[in-house]
Amino acid sequence: MDAPGTVARGDLLIRDDAIAALGAGVPAALAGARPDAEFDAAGAFVVPGLVHGHLHLCQTLFRGLAEHDDLLRWLRERIWPLEAAHTTASVAASARLGLAELIAGGVTCINDMGTVRHTEAIGEALEASGIRAVFGKALMDQGAGVPAGLLESPRAAMDESLVLARRFHGAGAGRLGVSLAPRFILSCSEALWAEVAATARERGMLVHTHLAESPTEAREVTQAVATSAARYFAERDVLGPGFVGAHGVWLDDDELALLARADAALVHCPGSNLKLGSGLAHVGAWRRAGIRCGLGSDGAACNNRLDGFHEMSLAASLSRVVGRRDPRPGSPPPLAARDVLALATCDGARALGLGDSVGVLAPGRQADIAVVDARGPHMGPAPERDPYVALVHAARPSDVRLTVVAGRVLYRDGAWTTLDPAAVGATARTELTGLLRRAEEAGVA
Ligand SMILES: [Zn+2]
Repeated sequence: MDAPGTVARGDLLIRDDAIAALGAGVPAALAGARPDAEFDAAGAFVVPGLVHGHLHLCQTLFRGLAEHDDLLRWLRERIWPLEAAHTTASVAASARLGLAELIAGGVTCINDMGTVRHTEAIGEALEASGIRAVFGKALMDQGAGVPAGLLESPRAAMDESLVLARRFHGAGAGRLGVSLAPRFILSCSEALWAEVAATARERGMLVHTHLAESPTEAREVTQAVATSAARYFAERDVLGPGFVGAHGVWLDDDELALLARADAALVHCPGSNLKLGSGLAHVGAWRRAGIRCGLGSDGAACNNRLDGFHEMSLAASLSRVVGRRDPRPGSPPPLAARDVLALATCDGARALGLGDSVGVLAPGRQADIAVVDARGPHMGPAPERDPYVALVHAARPSDVRLTVVAGRVLYRDGAWTTLDPAAVGATARTELTGLLRRAEEAGVA
């Protein structure tokens, strides 16, 4: 995924946490020495690890529990009450279950939005898992249907975000970053957005939020603030190079221009947009406007997979449908498979401000790598003829043989090095039982 689009057969050498050499450069870099460890990647593609631009690890326990609703009903009737029933232990179990799935699927970096409480449990799970991540607690201080347990004052919301930042920003040898994560316009007051904008500027923190996701949400936003989401953010100085907005399905061209001018980033979540019936984002138009773009799965409650390959396949195919609906002259062409792999790797890293360190296989970059076996029948007969098409349209998480973050093997041929999948699964089931009991006692579930 370097700028010239190099595809080469050869070796890759990792030293400490970084890529030391590639291909012809490997013998010279080894200088006659033998590597401490080797992995035979014959018959596989070695690619930059996948970057998941938008996710809620706290919702992994809710997988299959919130079906058949559109966004606002899904949030108000299912997700928020379930989030309010979380404890530190259930959030930790939810995060670890999601991380086991992500790491085995070649994901090396995520951008997570937690729930309002217990976000330190997500930070601890991220740190122990070895994955690279930006994460933040969801900020909510108002809104119809928000349970009391998820509401807090703007001051308390910001103070806890800063406590998390002091503890986790730069933790895990620099793998972790902490963001400000105001949930969306309908759950955050004007005062809270002002605090977010000022603090993000002062401390250089990412602002991770949702915008323009569904038509009913867009309508309620217009009723509440008399303008659209991107305009609201632009007027309040929320947009900037650290802004990462998920979904963006219903942004118009003027709003895309506002985002581009501010150098804000958007994250495409096609699986979630389809399953919640939210709509089809026009990612070609985002790219044409010059916006940095990434790809994400959103949480397991609205997808229900945390699967970068599924999202890539959807993004590539949906761009053909969306492009055809845009009758204007000069409408952007469908995304090529390489463009889509870029969304999930180098472009996704740039969307999170990590473009200089990950997303590309090149000497000096962080060794965040996935090895994807190409020998399965579903990849045949000749995946090497177009590796981008093979990876985007045919590969699956189960093809991933090796996941490496900062030079450390996190997953190898069915075995996790930082997570015990049997224990993770058992704890998740136990915690789900407790969570549903608490939700029932609170009158939901
Ligand atoms: Zn989301």
